[in-house]
This record gives sequence, structure tokens and C-alpha cells, in this order.
Amino acid sequence: MSKLTETIEAVAQMILREKNYLSDLDAKIGDGDHGINMARGFEAVLEALDTLEHPENPKAVLHAVGTAILENVGGAAGPLYGTGFLCASEVCAEDERLTIDSAERLLGAAIAGIEKRGHARRGDKTMLDVLIPIHECFTAPYADGSTLYECLADANQAANEGVEYTKTIAARKGRASYLGERSIGCEDPGAVSSMLMFRAAYQFLNR
Ligand code: ADP
Ligand code: MG
Ligand code: MG
Repeated sequence: MSKLTETIEAVAQMILREKNYLSDLDAKIGDGDHGINMARGFEAVLEALDTLEHPENPKAVLHAVGTAILENVGGAAGPLYGTGFLCASEVCAEDERLTIDSAERLLGAAIAGIEKRGHARRGDKTMLDVLIPIHECFTAPYADGSTLYECLADANQAANEGVEYTKTIAARKGRASYLGERSIGCEDPGAVSSMLMFRAAYQFLNR
């Protein structure tokens, strides 16, 4: 076990706990399977963490997480999250430590990978409306003069605000886009899963 694998375990437990909630949100503007998809992915992640050869190597851990999600989750969000973890792994050193700089670099790479694969942008009512505001909290000038823990707290708040923002806009990507304006008023399920994943990591690191 390492601090990173323990953090990812906390994230997995959050997703498993909130499985029904995420599917209920998806039932309103999609096909009702987001919680099922995410839980399947994070069950595979927990198994992968159990058999890791190098839990102390964050690059290898992130690669294993991305692979487990990619190989086990269908639908839209699974491949996007899997890609995000793999892209983060690509820019992660084998002895990387959590700092403002590494959080900025890894989140930035994950977001770039998700954008490239899904062709969505901020404002399309997707997970990106939470992930991009989280990332911003670790970039200059926002992060200037802040400690890592201040950035984490700001990002946790930004994630909550990102979810609220998705309620106010119409979906332009994914299944919810079939509803167009009728998706206004509902939060995006992928935005909520991103927020919950970050919240779990934040609470674990702040414990
Ligand atoms: P599916 O829509 O295939 O059933 P899920 O329900 O698991 O897959 O995931 C839906 C979520 O995926 C959405 O709430 C949204 O946040 C995210 N999503 C869908 N399409 C995209 C995209 N092109 N880019 C980024 N995120 C997307
Ligand atoms: Mg769905
Ligand atoms: Mg589906």
C-alpha cells in the first residue's frame, strides 16, 4: 500500500457507495447506468490494486487504474476516465510526489486526453465542467501563494460549483444531448462522479 493506492481505494469506496445515486441522476437525462458503469470500473480497480507489483510507483499505479477502467467499463464515461488515468500516468514520474505542480501537470494531461477522445469542451455539460475548474485551482495565478492543502480545498469547492453549473446548461455531448434544453435543471451524472471522486481524495488526504 502507498498513499496513492490508499487514496484511490477511498475514491473507489465513494463510487461504490454512491452507485445508485449516480444511476438515478443518469436515469433523468440518460440511460440510468452511470453508477453501474462506474461501480464496475472501480471494482476492477480494487482488484488491480490488490495485485500491484509496485504500489509505491505512482506511474505504474495510475497505469493500472486506467487499464482496469478501460477494460471493464462500456458506455461513454468509462473509456473517458480510463483515458484520463492513462494520460496522467504518461506524465507521471516513477517517484512523483503530490505537489501543486504535479497535481497541475497530471490533471492537465488527464483533461487533455479526455478532450481529445470525447471532443467535448467546457460548457457542454459533462465531467469536464468539474475537472477543468478543479485543475484551474492548481494553476497560476490561482495557486500562487497557496499551500497544496489550500489548493485542494479550493478545488473541492470548485468541483461542487462545477456540478451546480451543469444544472444551468443544456447538454451538447453524450446521451443527455438528445434532450437538448430539456436537460437544463438536472446535474450531469459524469460531473457528479468527478466531483465525488475528487471529494473522496480530498477527504482522505485531509483526514
Ligand atoms: P453512457 O452515456 O454511454 O450511458 P455513462 O452513463 O456511464 O455512459 O456516462 C455518462 C457521462 O459521460 C455523462 O454524464 C458525461 O459527463 C460523460 N460524457 C459523455 N460524453 C462525453 C464526452 N464526449 N466528453 C466528456 N464527457 C462525456
Ligand atoms: Mg448512461
Ligand atoms: Mg449506457
